[in-house]
Amino acid sequence: MAILVVGGAGYIGSHTARALRHAGYDVILYDNLSTGSRRLAQGFELIEADIADAATLRPALARADALMHFAAHAYVGESVENPRKYFRNNVTAALTLLNSALEAGIRRIVFSSSCAVYGVPRQIPITEETNREPVNPYGASKLFFENALEAYSRAYGLRSVRLRYFNAAGADESGEIGELHNPETHLIPLALAATASGRELQIYGSDYDTQDGTCVRDYIHVNDLADAHMRALQYLESADQNAVQSLALNLGTGRGHSVLEIVEAAETATGRPVRRSVRPRRAGDPPILIADPAKAQSVLGWTAKRNLPEIISSAWAWMQSASRRRAA
Ligand code: UDP
Repeated sequence: MAILVVGGAGYIGSHTARALRHAGYDVILYDNLSTGSRRLAQGFELIEADIADAATLRPALARADALMHFAAHAYVGESVENPRKYFRNNVTAALTLLNSALEAGIRRIVFSSSCAVYGVPRQIPITEETNREPVNPYGASKLFFENALEAYSRAYGLRSVRLRYFNAAGADESGEIGELHNPETHLIPLALAATASGRELQIYGSDYDTQDGTCVRDYIHVNDLADAHMRALQYLESADQNAVQSLALNLGTGRGHSVLEIVEAAETATGRPVRRSVRPRRAGDPPILIADPAKAQSVLGWTAKRNLPEIISSAWAWMQSASRRRAA
């Protein structure tokens, strides 16, 4: 069985591609390398093209039995400054991908959605029934594609699982692949980089209504996300006629960690201090985002297996191996 992993040269796509191959699937990566990297695609067939390119999509999709769609711009701040870029890729081009998949006869899609579809939730932990009221163009673009999948499942029988990730972090335990963003904006790699370089970490806000005043997030190991994708695919393969046609699932641990807790965990993992300063709040940051992952557990039999120390130590091992490679 062949899976087209669109955005497979990116952070979460590349980890999922390895998990799929390990489980015996044939994997074809499709990526325009705008934010993905050839390094993360090493050892896989890579079709280097854009999701707006229907002529290239057509033969690629003709070889696939199912589609995983990871190819999206994913910086919240950038989406506020440049919504056009986000709607062009995450909505317009993504619809070209969806229509091409439909025309190619594909009826199973696993989609990278995000907890950003919830906006600022009124209740924590967040269940899948929480109202979807995104507060930035990134979240709006993810919600649009979710709605398209729901409509296509009703109209055309296309089955999908929409996986709403909380904060993806960590790296494959092999040290071969990990997070490679340019620019890096995420807390865990920046906190770890601060221990290595002595550069100051900026803490965005210390006056939130949380245990220590800093934002709380639910950090989930990227290989736990990869495992959930595999299970989502198996769910779509199952012949159960009662199965939901377009299913949304939260992927998180159900535990929250504040920014200061992450800083302390980075200090523990590296044995070095993080120089830091408190800055104003970052626009668009909800104070607390914690998943209720019960539905993913009951439907897919999935739970996150890796805890925060494992997330941080795997991210640190990856950063060290990447800097050794640069020095070599
Ligand atoms: N954060 C921070 N300093 C940084 C980067 C992030 O204080 O340099 C905070 C950010 O405000 C948020 C949390 O860390 O509360 C996680 O941010 P990240 O960008 O890693 O993920 P997001 O929650 O935006 O998806």
